Amino acid sequence: MRTLLILGGTRDAYDLAQILASQPGLRVVSSLAGRTDAPRRPAGEMRVGGFGGPQGLASYLRDNGIDAVVDATHPFAMQMGWNAARACAETGTRLLRLERPAWQAGPGDRWHFVDDWQQAAPWLAANSRRALLAVGRQDVAAFAGLDHIWFLIRSVQPPDPPPSLAQAEFLLARGPFDQQAEHDLLRTHRIDTIVCKNSGGVTDGKLLAARQLGLPVVMRQRPPRPATAQATDIPQVLDWLGL
Ligand code: NAP
Repeated sequence: MRTLLILGGTRDAYDLAQILASQPGLRVVSSLAGRTDAPRRPAGEMRVGGFGGPQGLASYLRDNGIDAVVDATHPFAMQMGWNAARACAETGTRLLRLERPAWQAGPGDRWHFVDDWQQAAPWLAANSRRALLAVGRQDVAAFAGLDHIWFLIRSVQPPDPPPSLAQAEFLLARGPFDQQAEHDLLRTHRIDTIVCKNSGGVTDGKLLAARQLGLPVVMRQRPPRPATAQATDIPQVLDWLGL
C-alpha cells in the first residue's frame, strides 16, 4: 500500500482525489488549509490545518509514511509549494506540482500585467473609475485608499474583515461564469476595468467578455515557484504515479 498526500484547496485537487481514491493499493490523503468554514469533503481521507512550516510538514511525511506528494495548491498560494519542496527534499519524498496552465492574452485583449497589487494601484488610480475586483477575498484590502474608484467586489465568501473602501458593492458568487452573463454584469455596472489573478484553466467568461467589450484587464502574474516535477493535468499525474 502506497500513501499519497495531496496538498489541496483547488478544484484540480478534488478531481484528483476523486480519481485516485478508488485505486487499489493506494491510500489518498487530501490536506486543506482550513480557510473556509465547512469545506467540501474530498474523496479518500482528509486532514485540515497548517503543518507548522517545512519542518512540521517533514515530520508529518515521516510520521504518516507518505510515499509521494502532489502539490495541487492554487497558483497564488505563495508559501505551501516552497514548504513542500523543502520538506520533500529533506525526507527524500517524491514531489509533483500540479498546476493548470496560465491564461494567455490573445488578439483584442488589453491586459496590463502586474507582479503584485502595489503595482496595480497606480495604474488603477490613473485609468479606472469603476472596477470589477475578482481577486479573492483575502486580497481586497490591498485596494484601500483608491477612494475615487467604485469597486464591484466578487468573491465566494465575504471579505473578512470588511475592507475599508470608500465606494464598493459586494457580490457573493462562485464561478465558473459564462461569457454572456459576464458581459451583462460588466455592462449593467458600467465596469471600465477588470482586476484579477492569472489563475488559469478553462477559458474564462470575464476575460472573453472584456475582449468583446474592449475593456482593459489588470492581470496579476503568477508568483515564482520552486523547481519540481510538473504536471498540467490529471493524466500527467497518473503517469507520474505509474498508474
Ligand atoms: P499559502 O500562502 O501557500 O499558505 C500559507 C500557509 O497555510 C502555509 O504555510 C501552510 O501552513 C498553510 N497551508 C496552505 N495550504 C495548505 C494545505 N493545502 N494544507 C495544509 N496547510 C496549508 O496559501 P494561501 O494563499 O493562504 O491559501 C490557502 C489554501 O487556499 C491553499 O490550500 C490554496 O490551494 C487555497 N486557495 C488559495 C487561493 C489563493 O488565491 N491564494 C485561491 C483558491 C484556493 P503551515 O506553514 O503551518 O504548514
